Amino acid sequence: METINVALRAALPEYANDFCDVLKLFFAVEHYEVNPEEQSDAEQLTQLYEEKDGKAICTFLFRGESKTAEAQLPAPSGDEQHSAVAKKRVTKRLCKVTLYELLKRQTCHRPPWGSLTGIRPTRLLYEGLARGLTMEQAQQHVEDTFDVSHEKADLLRRIVIEQQKLPQPNVSEADVYISIPFCRTRCAYCSFPGEAVGKGKMIPPYLKALLWEMEEGAKLLERAGLKLRALYVGGGTPSALNEADFALLMDETMRLFPNACEYTVEAGRPDTITRGKLETLKRLNVGRISINPQTMNDKTLRVIGRDHTAQQAAEAFLLARELGFDDINMDVIAGLPGETAEHFAHTMRCIRELKPDSLTVHTLAIKRSSRLNLEKTPLPSHEVAAEMVRMGQETADALGLEPYYLYRQKYMAGQQQNVGYARPGKACLYNVDIMEETTSILAMGAGAISKRVFPDRELRIERAPNVTNVSVYIDRVEEMASRKENLFINR
Ligand code: SF4
Repeated sequence: METINVALRAALPEYANDFCDVLKLFFAVEHYEVNPEEQSDAEQLTQLYEEKDGKAICTFLFRGESKTAEAQLPAPSGDEQHSAVAKKRVTKRLCKVTLYELLKRQTCHRPPWGSLTGIRPTRLLYEGLARGLTMEQAQQHVEDTFDVSHEKADLLRRIVIEQQKLPQPNVSEADVYISIPFCRTRCAYCSFPGEAVGKGKMIPPYLKALLWEMEEGAKLLERAGLKLRALYVGGGTPSALNEADFALLMDETMRLFPNACEYTVEAGRPDTITRGKLETLKRLNVGRISINPQTMNDKTLRVIGRDHTAQQAAEAFLLARELGFDDINMDVIAGLPGETAEHFAHTMRCIRELKPDSLTVHTLAIKRSSRLNLEKTPLPSHEVAAEMVRMGQETADALGLEPYYLYRQKYMAGQQQNVGYARPGKACLYNVDIMEETTSILAMGAGAISKRVFPDRELRIERAPNVTNVSVYIDRVEEMASRKENLFINR
């Protein structure tokens, strides 16, 4: 990708970040200035905007060429706030698509997701369905309006069909999330602010604070009149706790939050999984676990700092099967440093042999604070990452798994996506809820973010984040509980 420096002169500078996201579909943007006061050496990108006869008209100029497009503005309704939101949506989309079309013409590059830069492309299909389109029409609309490839739009269609088979969102329900922000070692691509377990000194005070917050959370759920839906214990790596602490956490979880329609525990790192921890989960009827190899190549595992082997991942999986777990997810990552298509094909062959009940194929996203970014580690090309993602889909198809949730992140290798695939009846409701943002979440533990979905005309979401630092969380756990009180009771 060509590296460029850009000075944006924008009539609508409030969308400057969105324009930068579009530029990044075509270029590596090293430096980006918005309406600089002084003359800049960077390449000039100019945006013009006007409204005429009920239409929004947007023009972009770049490298001596221009593109103009227009869109009908929504008629004002009685509700001022709603009208403003609707207008913003139209103008932002118009501007992004106009810039996209100009850059696509200039570079002759067509990104797989077209002009889309957001995290949740499924929403566009849902929007179409809400306007009365059929599934096929909604898919076509996404392809035509945003230049999304047929392959990707078809993936969205399959996902929405799978999601429609699940219990539908209900404003009188809430999910529960419990965070264990500890891992044995830190993965090189991780930007999560958790802590390595180290000598385990922080774990007893952390658990004490967390169990108190969970106790308060259970009372809050009841007072708010919310019925428990799905519960997820994640992190970090919950199974990084020792067997006794893990049993304490899970016993308390099930005592305080009984009768969820689904329980998932992230058993992430295979080297943290023991027979004792799996037996605890079995005893408590926790149905769904996730064992994440990420890759089945030992050299890559060392490069990314995972501190376990492929063999350990296979053994942990087989042990869980032996103990009767019939809903096991495995996570893999396409685009890991040093991997070729053949490395990924090897991982896929191992996955096909193990036959997990669900498979999540992530694409590496290099977050700014991760070691991979800081060390500027060389990564597979966009084309190789795309090839790996295709292999992931073929493996899921071969195992009879259907795609059921999808999200995108910034800086993803090959401008791809993360997709969860599952056998019929094994889709994780919590994953869908958190990605589609249609269900409230009561979240406890360091770094956990509670979310309340208000059933307004446009779904309105408010959040109450817990602090991420473990020591600060322990000191301020009462304040974390009162933030949730404000979110779920006082609003
Ligand atoms: S297991 Fe997950 S949370 Fe833990 S270090 Fe690796 S990426 Fe980060």
